[in-house]
Amino acid sequence: MVVDAIGARVNLKRYPVQSQTQTQDIQVARLEMMLEVSRTLNSTLDLDVLLQEIIDIAIELTETEAASVLLLDERKELSQFQVVTGQKQRPLALSVLSLEGSVAGWIIKSGEPLVIHNIQEDERRFSEIEQMPSFEPRMILGVPLVAQQKAIGVIEVFNKSPDTIFTGGDIQTLNTLATQAAIAIANAHLFKHSDQLVNVFHELRSPMTSIIGFSRLMLASSEMDSNDFRTGLESINREATRLSQIVNDFLDLAKIETGRLPMNKESVTLEGLMQEVIDLFYPQSFEKEITLSMSVKTPIPHIRADGARLKQVLINLVDNAIKYNYQGGSVMVTLSGNAVRIQVSVQDTGKGIASDDLELVFDKFYRIQDDEERIRGAGLGLALAKRIIEGHDGDIWLESEVGVGSTFTFSLPIQG
Ligand code: ADP
Repeated sequence: MVVDAIGARVNLKRYPVQSQTQTQDIQVARLEMMLEVSRTLNSTLDLDVLLQEIIDIAIELTETEAASVLLLDERKELSQFQVVTGQKQRPLALSVLSLEGSVAGWIIKSGEPLVIHNIQEDERRFSEIEQMPSFEPRMILGVPLVAQQKAIGVIEVFNKSPDTIFTGGDIQTLNTLATQAAIAIANAHLFKHSDQLVNVFHELRSPMTSIIGFSRLMLASSEMDSNDFRTGLESINREATRLSQIVNDFLDLAKIETGRLPMNKESVTLEGLMQEVIDLFYPQSFEKEITLSMSVKTPIPHIRADGARLKQVLINLVDNAIKYNYQGGSVMVTLSGNAVRIQVSVQDTGKGIASDDLELVFDKFYRIQDDEERIRGAGLGLALAKRIIEGHDGDIWLESEVGVGSTFTFSLPIQG
C-alpha cells in the first residue's frame, strides 16, 4: 500500500507500479493507476459486468468493507447495486430507493460528496441505510456520478478497514473513480439503447422485405393469375399494416413519454370494446385452434376513458395471449367491476414468463429472447399499454407461471 500525492491510501496490488518514494513517482503511479482503472472500465459495455468492476475498484481504492452504486432511472428512483467484501455475490439490484430520505438522494440533490462517520448518531436518519441485508454500515462516503453535467447516480463506500476515518484523499480518489465510472456507465446505456434499436429495425426490415419482394414479383410477371395477384396484394397490405403499427406504437409511446398524447375521455362501455377486440382476433385464434372467450362477472358500468386508447391496450393483451400461446390453447378475458373500479384480465395457457422477467416486460423494447421460435414483435405493446392505463390513473400487473400461462390484469377507476 502507498500513500498517494493527495494523501489517499491506495492499494496498488491490482495496479502495480515500480517507484513509490518520490512525489513525482507517486503522481505517475496515481496516473498509471487511474489509466488502468479507465482501461478496465472502458473494456466492457455490459452494465452488470461494469457495475461489478466499479464496486470492486471502489472497495479496493478506499479500503472499505462494502460499496454500492445507485443508478437514477427515468422515474427518478434509485436502483441500488451493492457488494460486501468477502461475500461472494454478484451486484444485484437490491432495492429501489426514492430521492427523499436516502443518502444517495441527498448527494444527487446537493451534487456534493457526503461523509458520515457515525451513521447511528447522524440526525438526518437516512432510511436507505437500514436497507442493507447481512451487513451493518457504520460509516459512509458517497460521491455523485455525473455524466454530461447530469447526475446519473451515486457511488458509496462503507466502513473503512482498519477502522479509521475517511480522509480528503479518499473523497478525491472516489471522485476521480466516479468521473471515469460515469462515462463508462453512460456508454453502456447508450450501447444498450442502440442494441435495442437494432432489434426494432430488424422488426421493420422483415415487413419491408416482404413488401418489396411481393411488389417486385407482381411487377415482373406480365400475366399473373388473378388469385395470385390477390394473394400478393393481401400480403403487401398485411405487411404494410404491420409496419405502420410498429411506427405508430413507437410514436405514441414517444408522445406519451413527453406528455404530448392527450387522453380524449368519453363515456365508454368496456364490454362493447372487448367484444370488438374478440371479433377482430377471431381469425387468428381460429388459425391456431385457440379458444377465445369472454366472461362478464358483474354488470360493468360505463367509465370515463379514452375508448380508442383502451382498445389499443386490449388489442395488445389479446394479441400477446394468442401470439405466445400454444396451438390448441385458450384465452379467457374476464371483466368485473364494483361501484368504484372495473377490472379486466386476459388469461392465457401459453408459455408463461419467468419471474426474473415479470417486471421487465413492461419496459420499452424489452423482449424475452426465445431461440427456438422466432415470434415477431418490437417490444413496444406492453410499454404502451402500461402508460395508457397509468394515464387513466389505473394499474396494470401480471401473474405468470412458465409452461402454464400468464394473466395480465388492469384496473381502472370508473370516474377517470
Ligand atoms: P412484443 O411486440 O415483443 O410482443 P410486448 O411489449 O407486447 O412486445 O411484450 C414484451 C415481451 O413480453 C414479449 O416479447 C414476450 O416475450 C413477453 N410477453 C408478453 N405477453 C406475453 C404472454 N401473454 N405470454 C408470454 N410472454 C409474453
